[in-house]
Amino acid sequence: MQIWQEILNCFLPPRCRKCGKILKEDTGLCKSCYSKINFITEPYCQKCGHPFEFLTDVKGQMICGKCLKNNRSPFRLSRSAFIYDEESKNLVLNFKFNDRTENAKFFAKILLVAGQDIFTAGVDLIVPVPLHYTRLLKRRYNQSALLCSELSKLSGIKCDNLSLVRHQKTRPQVELSGIARQRNVHNVFSVKDVSAIKNRRILLIDDVLTTGATLRECTKALKHSGAKSVDTLTLARVI
Ligand SMILES: [Zn+2]
Ligand SMILES: [Zn+2]
Repeated sequence: MQIWQEILNCFLPPRCRKCGKILKEDTGLCKSCYSKINFITEPYCQKCGHPFEFLTDVKGQMICGKCLKNNRSPFRLSRSAFIYDEESKNLVLNFKFNDRTENAKFFAKILLVAGQDIFTAGVDLIVPVPLHYTRLLKRRYNQSALLCSELSKLSGIKCDNLSLVRHQKTRPQVELSGIARQRNVHNVFSVKDVSAIKNRRILLIDDVLTTGATLRECTKALKHSGAKSVDTLTLARVI
């Protein structure tokens, strides 16, 4: 196995997923790109995962003001690996739209680290945010489902990309803002196989968390079908 990997590396050397530079070892990103990505590290809100920028020396369990005020959040825990900004944008967009599906393995490793608190709390099933079938036909793959499948291999937790469906076609959320995003995804998700979801602790996976409208609607459908709890894990989040 080792020898084949070495031969393969000679012909197809691993490259940095962001700048394309050849890497000695497949670490995903080169040192320079790695240092530019704003990974979310402690301190962050223990519930919603929002980073505390100005409290760098605070240790222990911290809950943000928003979570303290609104304890009716549908999610048990939310985590993201890095901040969605000019440095990380292309990495995410290339994976989503430009067929860079080979990056799923590397992203799944990052998700496994970013989601440690969630895995410790306990997860029974990993579920991706689904695409409407017409968009899936057009794009040929669902980036969130690819993340789920790789994360499932790493964590040993079952991935289910069939039970939650987007039964209604929607406009891309990126074209909309605020309340329009909420309206766009209102009641568009449903569960096809209730028995697969009932009493399960679900981990929902998506690429980017912006307003959370899509993840909230998915959660509504999952809880309606008896999900015990729903956590969310995304590659990036808009701060
Ligand atoms: Zn690089
Ligand atoms: Zn919070």
